[in-house]
Amino acid sequence: MINLKDINKTYYNGAPLHVLKGINLEINAGEMVSIMGASGSGKSTLLNILGILDNYDSGEYRLNDRLIKNLSEREAAILRNKMIGFVFQSFNLISYKNAVENVALPLFYQGVGRKKRNALAEEYLDRVGLKSHALHFPNEMSGGQKQRVAIARALIAQPKIILADEPTGALDSKTSVEVIQLLREVNLQGMTMVIVTHEREIAEATDKIIRLKDGVIEQIEITAKQQQA
Ligand code: ADP
Ligand code: MG
Repeated sequence: MINLKDINKTYYNGAPLHVLKGINLEINAGEMVSIMGASGSGKSTLLNILGILDNYDSGEYRLNDRLIKNLSEREAAILRNKMIGFVFQSFNLISYKNAVENVALPLFYQGVGRKKRNALAEEYLDRVGLKSHALHFPNEMSGGQKQRVAIARALIAQPKIILADEPTGALDSKTSVEVIQLLREVNLQGMTMVIVTHEREIAEATDKIIRLKDGVIEQIEITAKQQQA
């Protein structure tokens, strides 16, 4: 599903900063992996490349066998919309839209009519256990509820992969476990997932932990969870 060969990335605003130094990585369809590493080790940079939000300097990134290189903005946007769902630490919900409208947003951009997209959004809210909060606005929901809405929004366009950058970073530990369990349920229905996290407990709920250190993969650990499976 995801294949990275010798990916390098340097930021050139100010003194050049070589952030990714030859990343080789394969993530198979249906896998749920986590990326750990100290702050500044390049986790978000790597995730942004996987999400076709940012370019890399050398190497090859293949997504579903398609080489992701030198795409136009438009090509990148089309692929992103079709292939990738994003979940962020800060939820990124629109404050003046209620839960249904937030979840329905990707379908709005696809030109799906209001009635149809809202009906689908309600189904996805139900899937994440928030049917009763359909008309609530973000400021009327807890952090965990907001992240569930964000997950429903990531799922509604039926992407092939979910990329999550510290999805539990703003949540207390009990809520974090609930959110990772929800992500696992989605994964068990076949969704490939890459989750950046600082938290050992969250990483251990995934199949594999990829450890980044100073821009290289230091270690790939198969978790106990996966060994039992
Ligand atoms: P992590 O997510 O592991 O904390 P990042 O990938 O966000 O790390 O950042 C890696 C390094 O690259 C950091 O030193 C950060 O300051 C730097 N960096 C990130 N984004 C940019 C950017 N757009 N321009 C310049 N430097 C950046
Ligand atoms: Mg980061």
